[in-house]
Amino acid sequence: QRIRVGVIFGGKSGEHEVSILSGQSILKALDPEKYIAVPIGITRRGEWVVGAEAAQVLQEAAQIQLGGPPEPSSIDAGADRDAAVGQPGAGPHAVPASQPGETALTLVPPALVESFDVVIPVLHGPNGEDGTIQGMLELFDIPYVGAGVLASAVGMDKVFMKKLFASAGLPQAAYTFYTRKTWESDPEAVLADVEAKLGYPCFVKPANMGSSVGISKAKNRTGLTAAFKLAAKYDRKIIVEEGLNVREVEVAVLGNDEPKASVPGEIVPSNEFYDYNAKYVTGDSALIIPAPLPPDVTEEVRRLAVEAYRAVDCTGLARMDFFVERETDRVLVNEINTMPGFTRFSMYPKLWEATGVSYAELIDQLIQLAIERHRETR
Ligand code: ADP
Ligand code: MG
Ligand code: MG
Repeated sequence: QRIRVGVIFGGKSGEHEVSILSGQSILKALDPEKYIAVPIGITRRGEWVVGAEAAQVLQEAAQIQLGGPPEPSSIDAGADRDAAVGQPGAGPHAVPASQPGETALTLVPPALVESFDVVIPVLHGPNGEDGTIQGMLELFDIPYVGAGVLASAVGMDKVFMKKLFASAGLPQAAYTFYTRKTWESDPEAVLADVEAKLGYPCFVKPANMGSSVGISKAKNRTGLTAAFKLAAKYDRKIIVEEGLNVREVEVAVLGNDEPKASVPGEIVPSNEFYDYNAKYVTGDSALIIPAPLPPDVTEEVRRLAVEAYRAVDCTGLARMDFFVERETDRVLVNEINTMPGFTRFSMYPKLWEATGVSYAELIDQLIQLAIERHRETR
C-alpha cells in the first residue's frame, strides 16, 4: 500500500521562495510506486492551498528572479513581496496538473492534514521551522518529517540554542543579547555594553531568523548602530556575537536516537560574509565537498555535529554549521538548521550524496524516521 505524503511548502516567512524550490525537488523525487504525493502550498498571505492553487504557488518557482532580502514588513504581516531568490534548478514544475474546470481548494489545515500518513513540512524560518507547524501536526497526531516542537523552537532562537550548546560544553563564539525595548530605551548604553563585552568586529542578528536576513557585521560604532536598527526590525530579541576570522563548514546529520553525520562540506562565500546575497542572489558562493580539512579536524567537526544535534534533542534531520578558525583550526559550533534547504543543489542533500545516500534514499529515510518517532512518542 502506498504511503500518502503531504508536502507543505511556501509559507509566510522571508524564505518563501527557497521553500518552494525545496518542495518542488522533493515532489519530483517521491517514487510514485511507493508514495501518493500531494502538494500543499502556503501562500505569502498564509492561506493553505491544494490542487490547482498549490500548483500555482509551485509555478512561482519557474519565475523566481533575483532580488534582495525580504523586507521586515513582509515577514511580520505576511504581505506580498516582489523580491525573490534565484537558485539553480528553478525549472518548470512537475506537479500533477489539476483537472480542467476543477475548483481550486482552500482548506483549513486540520481537514487537510488528517488525510495523510506523513507530512513533510519543507518550510524555513519563523512559522515553519520554529515548532509552530510541528505543534499543529502533533495536535492532529500526524507523523511529520524533521525536528519536533522543542528542537525546532530552540533551533530557531539563537539565544536559547547557544544556552543549550553551552550547557553541553560545546565551543562557540562569545555572545550577548538584548531586547528591542532595551535597545530603544537606551541605545548608548547598549552600544557601550557591546563594546565592553565583545568589541569589533561583531555580528548583530535578529534572534529568530534564518538565511542571514537582518544580519550585519559591525566594524565600528556607526556600523553597530545601523546593525541594531536593522535587526530590531525583524525581532524583539537581538543577539550580538564576537566577529571571528573563520572558514565555514557544514555537516548533515540524520537520525532519531542514533544520529549519523555526513562528511563535512565547506562554504566559500562570494561576499565578505555569507549574507543573503551570497546565499541566494549572486549564486557564486562555492560549496566544496568534502571540506578540505586535516583528518583530525574533519573528525572533530563530525563528532561535534552529533553532540550539538543531541544537545537540542533534535530528531529527523538538521544541518549543523561550524566555524573553523583560520589560524588555529579551532572548531566552533555556529548553529543548527532544523529544516535546511532541500533542493538537489542544496548543501544538505549534497553532503549525503557524497556520503553515499542518494536524494531519493534520503527522503525514504526521513519518512521512515518520522513514522518511527511518531510510533515511539505515542
Ligand atoms: P543564519 O541563521 O541566518 O544563517 P548565521 O548565524 O549562520 O545566521 O549567520 C549568517 C552568516 O554570518 C554566517 O554564515 C557567517 O558568514 C556570518 N557570521 C555569523 N556569525 C559570525 C561570527 N560570530 N563570526 C564570523 N562570521 C559570522
Ligand atoms: Mg540558520
Ligand atoms: Mg547560517
